[in-house]
Amino acid sequence: MPQIFSVPRLLINRLRDVMAGDMEADTRLQKVVTLIAGTMIADVCSIYKRTETDELELVATEGLALSAVHQTRMALDEGLVGQIALSGEPLSIQDAPRHPAFSYRPETGEDPYHAFLGVPILRGGRVIGVLTVQNRTERLYEEDEVDSLQTIAMVLAEVVAADAPTQPSAPDPRESRSVTLRGRILGEGLGLGPARLHDPIVSPARYFTEDPDAEALRLRRALRQLQASIDRMLTSDVSAIFGEPREVLEAYKMLASDPVWAARLEETVRSGLSAEAAVDRSRREHRNKLDNAADPYLRERMHDLEDLDNRLLRVLSGGDAAGTADGGGEGGEVLIARRLGPAELLEYRNSGLAAIILEEVAPSSHAAIVARTLGIPTLGGVTGASAAVSPGDQVIVDAEEGTLHVRPDQDLLDAYATRSLMRTERQAAFQALRDQPSRTRDGEEISLMLNAGLALDLETMDKTGADGIGLFRTEFQFLVSDTLPKMDSQIGLYRQILDYAGNRPVHFRTLDLGGDKILPNANRGDEENPALGWRSIRFALDRPGLFRRQLRALVRACEGGPLSVMFPMVTKAEEFLEAKALLMKEVEWSVAHGFTPPCEIRTGAMLEAPALAFALAEIADEADFISVGTNDLMQFFHAADRMVPAVSERYDFVSRPAMRFLDMIQSECRKYDLPVSVCGEIASHPLEALCLIALGYRSLSMPAAGIGPVKRMLRSVDLSVFVPEFRAALSGRSPDFRNEVLSIAALQKIALKDS
Ligand code: PEP
Ligand code: MG
Repeated sequence: MPQIFSVPRLLINRLRDVMAGDMEADTRLQKVVTLIAGTMIADVCSIYKRTETDELELVATEGLALSAVHQTRMALDEGLVGQIALSGEPLSIQDAPRHPAFSYRPETGEDPYHAFLGVPILRGGRVIGVLTVQNRTERLYEEDEVDSLQTIAMVLAEVVAADAPTQPSAPDPRESRSVTLRGRILGEGLGLGPARLHDPIVSPARYFTEDPDAEALRLRRALRQLQASIDRMLTSDVSAIFGEPREVLEAYKMLASDPVWAARLEETVRSGLSAEAAVDRSRREHRNKLDNAADPYLRERMHDLEDLDNRLLRVLSGGDAAGTADGGGEGGEVLIARRLGPAELLEYRNSGLAAIILEEVAPSSHAAIVARTLGIPTLGGVTGASAAVSPGDQVIVDAEEGTLHVRPDQDLLDAYATRSLMRTERQAAFQALRDQPSRTRDGEEISLMLNAGLALDLETMDKTGADGIGLFRTEFQFLVSDTLPKMDSQIGLYRQILDYAGNRPVHFRTLDLGGDKILPNANRGDEENPALGWRSIRFALDRPGLFRRQLRALVRACEGGPLSVMFPMVTKAEEFLEAKALLMKEVEWSVAHGFTPPCEIRTGAMLEAPALAFALAEIADEADFISVGTNDLMQFFHAADRMVPAVSERYDFVSRPAMRFLDMIQSECRKYDLPVSVCGEIASHPLEALCLIALGYRSLSMPAAGIGPVKRMLRSVDLSVFVPEFRAALSGRSPDFRNEVLSIAALQKIALKDS
């Protein structure tokens, strides 16, 4: 069998020359296909480019009729070429005309060709064209031939995107045009700045190498650096807290030391491509497989592999392997990422970002909560953002409307300036309310508290005039560091919070790990439904060593002052009682060791699992308060994953079922004399908060941004007038409850809107 693809290095060198040459777009592509066909002893080589109207247009060919260039156009799902474009996968066929998807185009004169190989041309994760070779003889192309053609397609991507005008000629949308994309608001606000991509990109200028030997050495060094960084993770004590973390990390290490991976990368480098281009090629393959994998386990593995590619690219570009925030950020930039975990996001906390764009994330996920905590305007679910934006592009993030404007025109920039001014004025108006009592017009006092999790949240307590911290998410300290925080640093943080709060209450929520809050470098294992899995208090009770260290730190941090602790996701009474007993043991321990115990201890349960609503009687004598965590409670109540916007946004909080359930919880708590508050993010929305106070809740805890708008709302309400009408609507049957409540509020001139 002829080794038709055995000389890619020569081809790569020649391609480099053609790409560097100064010539017309069509001429360049024509030279490219001639080169590929000639070097690879293929009878035909063609490039099809995806047009703006989503057709595939033949833009260059060697072997087919030249008169068909710019004439032959196929629908995206038409023929073998269409199949490749749709699937994003290579396709090799022994006898193409006999294939059911084959679409015969007489104008191309392709009758005599049987063997067919096509690969997608991918750019920014999107198929922008298809590269094919054909031979007269019937044969199946070898795996390394497919591989080589994919490498060539990667090198060609920039040329095809930039060079080949389709008919009628249309500019590449990514180059200059302003584009608007939509997303979900995760952190409210407005931001303007140059784009910075989280996933490293390889510039086309760095695609080739003059000296493959030196490049291979560079690659090997980078691989060693990558492996060393994983070794460091392995030796950190993070691995001590999960069941089989070592194995998980070992598996990660194995992937990074995989000789096949290294050999493939080196082989690509030896063909004349740079180390970055080789890794980029590997990343494209993994991303493609990730996009096409339905199986969650496989997706996770592909994500690990893609993560490794990214880490290696960062090492090659001179950063560290983890390299997120601290390196390179100039401040004022807009970060664009496919997805970020809460820990990765926190790494950006000191980078002065103007805004964050995430392609994949749900509004109540912890990544989103972290984004809000950081006070950075953030949009999630902005599909295609990384593909539409180039680094340095000017972008406006409108996290009031939920839009991302890429390369905005002057009108948009002017509108942004006006809106930004209005926003500043609005913030000033909220600021003026800071020292006003949070009291309804008819004199009901409502306590407005802050949801916090980091020392950097503390300032917002003074800025907003919050009455205290209703929820302090202690796990954030664990999520931000590479190793488990030592007891001293836990005590240090808790003390800092208590000192700052002074007389204002602070409710510490004990470690809420699991679900989407996974420690760096620790895998959640293979749970199918992490939200329903080994998490929160379940995890803590099964890891008493870790849990008791935290309880000890909390007890010691008080230094004789009062302590308020709540346990996350209590589902049955026994869990609460067991957790409280551990806390009490720690109090005894501290007395026995000469530390001053807290002068007062209050313990609470977070009501996040519906079952607890029916077990309040059983904890009423032991619990001092209940905190309703609506983020989790609503996902379980509606059976709708809070991480999946397509379902989590489907069910309205302001609906009779949710209201009736919360009404029941409130009256059960009243029955057992249990103080109750709500600490889900929903309490920061004026309408939702209005419903909660109408149901009788008198304490709401929320992100800082909600305090101003909610205080403004409640100061405009007369509950003695609103509640009867709200109750009547609740017991009614009208189809649109939300609108009914909105109309009642509007008639009573309740301040729900921003202005
Ligand atoms: C909740 O579930 O409502 C809650 C406050 O906890 P978290 O969002 O941290 O899970
Ligand atoms: Mg929760």
